[in-house]
Amino acid sequence: MSAPFIRETMVCMNTAPFITATQLSKRYGATEALRGVDVTIHHGESVAIMGPSGSGKTTLMHVLSGIITPHSGSVQFQALNRPVELSTLNSEKRAKLRLQHIGFVFQEGLLMPELTALENVAVALMLSGVPRPAAESTAAGWLHALGLEGMEDRRPGQLSGGQAQRVAIARAQVNNPQIVFADEPTGALDSATSDQVLSALLDSTSGRGAPLVVVTHDEAVAARCSRIVRLQDGRLVHDSATSGALPEGHNAGGGR
Ligand code: ADP
Repeated sequence: MSAPFIRETMVCMNTAPFITATQLSKRYGATEALRGVDVTIHHGESVAIMGPSGSGKTTLMHVLSGIITPHSGSVQFQALNRPVELSTLNSEKRAKLRLQHIGFVFQEGLLMPELTALENVAVALMLSGVPRPAAESTAAGWLHALGLEGMEDRRPGQLSGGQAQRVAIARAQVNNPQIVFADEPTGALDSATSDQVLSALLDSTSGRGAPLVVVTHDEAVAARCSRIVRLQDGRLVHDSATSGALPEGHNAGGGR
């Protein structure tokens, strides 16, 4: 299982935060989805974002990854060890940054139903300009590493939920992204399968030294992450890195 994880290792000894977000606010009409959130994400850590439904978890993930822009606040992202302020990038540049530096895993995998497992993974590389034979060879390595040897030619409809989600993890990792975001990656799975898929996600990300950010409502998933932050009503109210609930009016997401 370790071959691609080690082969592509980009373990970074940089101790500066990988993402530094300060005073993030985001509104949808009258709804304040984020209210002055400060959070830092470091190399090598796995961070669970928890909180009740509607507390702002997905909004925070989308702001940190540049999918949406906040109304105020700053997100500094260490792309290729150079800090990039996401608010200075237009949507095209943010899309390029996501393609090159960020891996995503969603609850339902979002695989393309007409493509095989191998093609679903290889296409992520081909979009970055890698020729098809090389892309398929690297994709096959990831599928093998994730225990999917022999399933390369199956279409998503011919895979179990756990297998499909491991294909989605392979697709998220194949570009060797500097950070991986996962939104309820095990939400559609039973608990035993969830555990296996989470192991695959944690191992494949930490094996490359990349941070992993997981939005989850599942305490069992969060317990396996190195850090838990909790949101409530758009505010960061708890960060296990700073041991315990943050005092009233204090909204900082700390380091290690
Ligand atoms: P969570 O992921 O914790 O369930 P979200 O970040 O999805 O929370 O949503 C936070 C708040 O923002 C909720 O009240 C939600 O209804 C609102 N919201 C999120 N996205 C949109 C949107 N695109 N349009 C309007 N309201 C939204």
